[in-house]
Amino acid sequence: MISLVLAIVSQNYIRPSVSNNDTSKCTSNINFTPSSNQDPARLASTSTNGELFPYSHTRLPQTIFPLHYEIYLHPNYAKLQTHGEIKINLSCVQATSFILIHAKDIDIQSVLITDFRQHPINVSKTLQNNYNDFYYIQMKESFQPDQNYNLEMTFISKISTEKLQGFYRASYRDMTGNNRYMYVTQFEAASARSAFPCFDEPGMKVTVSLTIVRPSGYQALSNMPIEDSIVLNTENNMVAVKFAKSVNMSTYLIAFAVVDYHYLERRQGSVHIRTWAPADKINYTEVALNASVKILPYYRKLFGIAYPLPKLDLIAVPDFSAGAMENWGLITFRETSLLYNPKVGTISNFERVVTTVAHELAHQWFGNLVTMRWWSDLWLNEGFASFVEYLGGNLAAPSLHILESLYMKEFIPAMQYDSYINSHPILQNVDRTTEIGALFDKISYSKGCCVLTMLQDYLNSTIFFNGLRKYLITYKYRNADSDDLWNSISSV
Ligand SMILES: [Zn+2]
Repeated sequence: MISLVLAIVSQNYIRPSVSNNDTSKCTSNINFTPSSNQDPARLASTSTNGELFPYSHTRLPQTIFPLHYEIYLHPNYAKLQTHGEIKINLSCVQATSFILIHAKDIDIQSVLITDFRQHPINVSKTLQNNYNDFYYIQMKESFQPDQNYNLEMTFISKISTEKLQGFYRASYRDMTGNNRYMYVTQFEAASARSAFPCFDEPGMKVTVSLTIVRPSGYQALSNMPIEDSIVLNTENNMVAVKFAKSVNMSTYLIAFAVVDYHYLERRQGSVHIRTWAPADKINYTEVALNASVKILPYYRKLFGIAYPLPKLDLIAVPDFSAGAMENWGLITFRETSLLYNPKVGTISNFERVVTTVAHELAHQWFGNLVTMRWWSDLWLNEGFASFVEYLGGNLAAPSLHILESLYMKEFIPAMQYDSYINSHPILQNVDRTTEIGALFDKISYSKGCCVLTMLQDYLNSTIFFNGLRKYLITYKYRNADSDDLWNSISSV
């Protein structure tokens, strides 16, 4: 395939851009923290109250694991803050006398710990460390292995208007020129912790039951369908919207949105697909909706596993830092990646919508169903989605001949980026969350894509896809790393 594409492309060579995020989908929006003059070890070991912070590692300890989050969020949309409650079911695998959880810019107001008999376990001390976003809870008695516990916290978190991460407010102009707001999340890679306290590592998968309060006249969306809505009569007809319990998933894939949008809808088998946009742009989502309806059953056949959720929402976000984000069942898009106006849109605009939809739908399997154990294996998400988007995009819009552009759009930029002194291996160790953003680059996306293309050619398509199916079936709803992929393919 490569050599055939080479012949075609060599006649039409265009100098590629090597910008990190010019066309990338679901790029992380992590901001690099400028290197501080202060010693990192000192920052990591100092609590916000000046006390010594007793935990110096950057990753969570492997002593307790969360099983389920029950989250209640009551945003004050005028004051841009959220009063929240979270109940976490915990499983202890190794005795410990402390809980370490992520929280960023969150005011934690109360902590209650109980054992499986609902007997309270007293807390002797809590400490916060801003360097690693840790909240430390020292207990008066230890958790014991093979026992389950409950952690309940109340807190106040912020709705951001400056950073496009966490739970934030975006604005747009409606058809009458009035300014309107919508509220949405962007959690990848490590911003769920700024919306609610959580074990914010991809390997700490949980089921989630979410309730969020919305104003009347707005709709609330999340990963799962709505289960119940209750009007809070005392509060200007605000509505508490409860969503169905999710499948086992990583925190960075949790999403919710509060919008006064319109939608188009279609059924694909048992899946209810909707595309969401402001009223005057809703018809521009038709290309994305049509592509989704075609691609979803194609991936089901290609990967041997059905899309596991009952619904899929694709929503345009006016202020968005990446191209799109694959949140499970609620994919968020920059407007230019979801909306296509046939009157003024170019073929390139059309292709961007189709390939971004194909990319994000691929993530529903590669990334969402099977998730990298830690960010060092990000290429398992992005290399795969970048590779599969060509297959899905080709199916949805064969007239684009996008398979023939893979060499130009992935191989050449990857080679160019790889020639820089700051290039890195596809499998790159990262430790702190501030380092993760650097991995969302041409190496993880384009070089990852090219390696998989070469592997497919080397093994042949039948063996390659049988290996992928084995990998997905073996690790579904769980985590995997690169070795797990090689072992799955090798066994086939
Ligand atoms: Zn992606």
